[in-house]
Amino acid sequence: MLPIDPDTPATRLAATRDRIARAARLADRPASAVTLVAVSKTHPADAIVPLIAAGQRVFGENRVQEAEEKWPALKEATPDIALHLVGQLQSNKAAQAVALFDAIHALDRPSLADALMRAIDAQGRAPACFVQVNIGAEPQKGGCAIEGVPGLLDHCRALGLPIAGLMCVPPLDVEPAPYFALLAKLARDHGLAGLSMGMSGDYETAVMLGSTHVRVGTALFGAR
Ligand SMILES: *Cc1c(COP(=O)(O)O)cnc(C)c1O
Repeated sequence: MLPIDPDTPATRLAATRDRIARAARLADRPASAVTLVAVSKTHPADAIVPLIAAGQRVFGENRVQEAEEKWPALKEATPDIALHLVGQLQSNKAAQAVALFDAIHALDRPSLADALMRAIDAQGRAPACFVQVNIGAEPQKGGCAIEGVPGLLDHCRALGLPIAGLMCVPPLDVEPAPYFALLAKLARDHGLAGLSMGMSGDYETAVMLGSTHVRVGTALFGAR
């Protein structure tokens, strides 16, 4: 009988990386083209340290204040950590976000682009910015409407704010593949290389459809 892997952060991380690599292989993509963003929101430093010890270096948070409380100490111990903001951002927190994060996945309106650009100019540091698209046209969800994407990208270009790619959270409980394919097409049409898509329940599908950044929380940390 094969030994059963104990359920530890390290084995969960290894299993997630294996699945990403397998999905990438099926799509004839190198696994290195996919960044695993370990979404640690709501989890305390104690839960994060074992993943850092297992080699994970890219983490995601959805609230600026929570990230400011948790991450400075962790980053001091492991300086090569990259932090990604995966949640909605208020313009009045743009300066704090630019100071702390290496990537921002929720740029969804011109006023936020303006605030980010001001903070980037003032601080001389520029996180990678993804435009979040409301890919399922859901009224309750954040993200720029699909029709608004060209205008928002033009606005960012005029500001001189570089855009790394597009991000989406597809509707719950329906097949996500068509939404991922649509986001990939939008990115292609606009010459954008980055695709932030795929969460615990659907990251393999997302990788097969071109995701460059999967945002995985529950599969690594357990339920929130
Ligand atoms: C919480 C969150 C995730 C991670 O979700 P899981 O289902 O726990 O993997 C990914 N993206 C965003 C925008 C989130 O808010």
